[in-house]
Amino acid sequence: MIRNGALFDSAHLWILDLDGVVYRGKERQPYARELILHLRSLGRAVRFLTNKAAHSRDEYSRLLTSMGIPTTPEDVMTSGYATALYLASEGATGKTVYRIGESGLDRELESIGVRVLKDEDSPEDNIDYVVVGMDRQFNYEKLARAQKAILNGAQFIATNEDPTLPIENGAVLPGAGCMVAAVRTATSAEPKVIGKPETYSIEKVFESVGASPEESVIIGDRLDTDILAGNRAGAHTVLVLTGVTTREQAESAVGDMKPDRIVETLGELM
Ligand SMILES: [Mg+2]
Repeated sequence: MIRNGALFDSAHLWILDLDGVVYRGKERQPYARELILHLRSLGRAVRFLTNKAAHSRDEYSRLLTSMGIPTTPEDVMTSGYATALYLASEGATGKTVYRIGESGLDRELESIGVRVLKDEDSPEDNIDYVVVGMDRQFNYEKLARAQKAILNGAQFIATNEDPTLPIENGAVLPGAGCMVAAVRTATSAEPKVIGKPETYSIEKVFESVGASPEESVIIGDRLDTDILAGNRAGAHTVLVLTGVTTREQAESAVGDMKPDRIVETLGELM
């Protein structure tokens, strides 16, 4: 187990998942604000990393600020923004993207200068990329458009593959992974996955802060996304039990899903 002293000494960058860690539904989690303000007062970099792509970084920064945690868009990494960074690195500026997703994803994609073909735009043949994320208006026509573009040679990219979307009172809704699975089935193509448990989005956070994995800690509430991504990326991993994982599940995790540390609440880290 890593003790607080060692963790605070070695970790310059603290990456926090949002849902289940900083808040749950509309409620701030116990000690989230206190820990974040404490880390900032020690001069540590605090960043937020969410697999959700439906909202933009701007929207998350406003939400966090309204919860008493002053945050800028630069403090936030979403799988949608990471997808935009990936596309930029692929030289996608000026190219055409068809997306299954919501307005927050559009804003991030458009911010790097790709042309986002929307559902109301007439179908066209020259689509370079199909980006698939959470879409609460998902339907057969969108699936057919994505299928056609990928079969015609467009690159298939998934913002994330979360099977479920946790909501209040422990209930869940279908997550982005359901739309990705539909497109995968329709095309027999494998997507490039950007969000956790893949390491792309977390590596982009390391890069933006200039921190190495060894001097970074990721705090999450899911073993199969947050902890797996953190371990794969070489960071310290902390599982907090205020989200979707029980102590029993956390303690029986093996391999790359095993967190370095399990805490009941964020207060234990202070
Ligand atoms: Mg979470």
